[in-house]
Amino acid sequence: MPFVEQERYKISSGCRLHPDNDLYRDQEQHKHHVDINEWRCGYCRKNFYEEKYLDKHFDNRHFDLLNTSHGRCLADLCGALHCDLVMDSSLRKTKCNPAAAARNKHLCESLADSCFPVSKGPVTGRLHGI
Ligand SMILES: [Zn+2]
Repeated sequence: MPFVEQERYKISSGCRLHPDNDLYRDQEQHKHHVDINEWRCGYCRKNFYEEKYLDKHFDNRHFDLLNTSHGRCLADLCGALHCDLVMDSSLRKTKCNPAAAARNKHLCESLADSCFPVSKGPVTGRLHGI
């Protein structure tokens, strides 16, 4: 969240991007990349060769620690946040789907409205526009 940090803005808990609303945040913080082929579980110290096995381990052994009360998966917001540009550059060349683009635009606008309400002042106004 470099833009938000730069403005020293505190996101409200009603915003989907607030850390407390991230379903997998705690798990991600207990993921330790010790070496190229060594991933360690921060809950029980077990080691894995690949990140995907650690993810499976979280699903199997530590699913009870997920923030399921109000946390949701941030990947649900990928349409608005353009995760595709970060994850896989080949997706950039796919044809535009107008219906999907309209959905993503709506998602992006509602995210901006709830996280950076323009009425709250110049800082949120700037962040809303980014
Ligand atoms: Zn573990």
